[in-house]
This record gives sequence, structure tokens and C-alpha cells, in this order.
Amino acid sequence: MEHPLLGIHHVTAIAGDAQRNLDFYAHSLGMRFVKLTVNFDDPGAYHFYFGDEAGSPGSLLTFFPHPGGYSGQRGAGQATTVGLAIPQGSLEAWIDHFARHAIDFHLGDERFGERYIYLDDPDGLRVELIETADANAAPGRAYGDITAEHSIRGIHSVTLSVGSLEAAARFYSERMGFSQEASTTERVRFRVGSGIGSLVDVVESSERGRVAVGSVHHVAFRTTGDAEQAIWHERALGLHLNTSPVMERDYFRSIYFREPSGVLFEIATDGPGMAIDEPVEALGQSLRLPAMYEPNRQEIERRLPPLVLPGGSR
Ligand code: ZN
Repeated sequence: MEHPLLGIHHVTAIAGDAQRNLDFYAHSLGMRFVKLTVNFDDPGAYHFYFGDEAGSPGSLLTFFPHPGGYSGQRGAGQATTVGLAIPQGSLEAWIDHFARHAIDFHLGDERFGERYIYLDDPDGLRVELIETADANAAPGRAYGDITAEHSIRGIHSVTLSVGSLEAAARFYSERMGFSQEASTTERVRFRVGSGIGSLVDVVESSERGRVAVGSVHHVAFRTTGDAEQAIWHERALGLHLNTSPVMERDYFRSIYFREPSGVLFEIATDGPGMAIDEPVEALGQSLRLPAMYEPNRQEIERRLPPLVLPGGSR
């Protein structure tokens, strides 16, 4: 396929309490808090971004906190698991870390030759820490008792739950350009792009899921820039996937559509990136608003719950 997608750009999920979400990903998992902003479609809610030191595409896990929102349910039509990439030989360090901080986790069976542990975040989102060779060369970041050597490098994979594995597999390979890499009776693994964030696992579920607190809202895939995105926009429109127009997200531009099982996909440009409105050293230290909301900053700040940020307070 021409102009293939480069991998996963980011995964966005819905959280409950904002502070609890921030503490879990920044302190318990040691990911860098790279952007504090609002949901561009609903400035009454925060949008949190976690990632690597620079907030690179492929490293990003983001959340819309909805305090007091009802809980989602895992099932077909959503990404039911987020895999985070850790270097090979890191699992024991994470087991020690979770044990030391009394964080519940489970040891998974080896999957496609990779060792992993899994746990649920405070809102019930299933997160896996997976050892992968793809993570070995990616830059790490020390935080607390997590050394740079063992730290999370970014997204490893998502697991998509679909109504029909066969129909989904056909759509992903023929329409999205994913290449099938491995399979078991329950799971098909696709590769999209290379390096961090290049795996999509697909499983079948007879039960429909409900996207709410504790579930993934959408999965975004990487495209180089506007010209390549326009090609994907045409493709999606041609498939009658109820495709959105191109949306300005300041850090990237996005289009959205639902794949046939109902999972919300986004195709996002790699640029301009997280450092467009604050320097890399200062990422995530203050509330950034898109220009359209800047005139209402005071009111927006008053309505949002106060936060204690990893480096101080807002
Ligand atoms: Zn997104």
C-alpha cells in the first residue's frame, strides 16, 4: 500500500478522577507528563498526555478525565488493552517496583515470544507491560526507583476487540495496510510501521463493549504530514466510514472514523508535535489552551479541578 501508516501515534482513554489518573501514570508507571490541556471539543474537561521525554508520536498515552462518570465495559468495538513497551530483561525490575509500592499486578503467559505483566489502572483500564526488542534502543527516563534502563518507552500495542475476527483481519490488511505477523486460535497480530507502537492485536468477543470511564476512547495512527493524511482522508471517505473533516489539534492534525467493528480510529500527523507551545524541558508544567479558548482561560481554569502536577502545582 502506498503511503503506509507509520505505527500507533497515541492511544486515548477515559479516566475518572483526574488527580488519581495523573498520579498513577506519572508516579506509579513513571511516564513523563508531557501535556496538560483541555479536550479541544469540550474545554470543561482536561486532556492529559503521557509519553517519553519529548512526547514523541508512538510514546503517547492520553486521557480525558471525567470525574464521577459511569464505568465502561470491555467488549467488541473498542481497544480493550493498552500494551506499554519495556526493554527486554526489565520485567523483574517492574515486579519489584509494583511489590514495593503495593500495586496489584499479574504475570501473563509468554505471548508471541514476549514476556509481560498486566494490571488494571485505578479506573479499570487493562494495561500490559511487555518486554520487546523494539524498546531496547529507545531512550529511557529515570523516575523514582524506576531506572532509565527499565523505563516504559511508549506504546507496544493495542488489543482490539471485534465482533468478527475474520472480517476485521480482512479490513485491516486490505484497507489499512497492516501486515499479519502471527496468530493463535484467539488472537491475530498485525504490524503497522516499525519500532515502538507498531503492533495491533485483534481478538474476538461476542459481547459488545461500552466505552466510558476505564476504557479506550480511540486509537490514533501516524502519518507523516498533511499530504499523506489527505490521501488517507480520501480513502476513508471512499469506504463510507463516517469520516470526520481534518481537525486542528495544535500538536497534530487529525481525521477520525470508525472501523467496521465500531472502534474509533484516528489518523494523526507526526508534526508539529508537543513542543509547539512550550519547550521540551517544560512540557506538562502548565495548562496549555488552544488559541480559541485562550480568551476564556480564567473561567476554564476556575471550572477545572485543581491538580498537583509531578513538578509542582498548577
Ligand atoms: Zn486522539
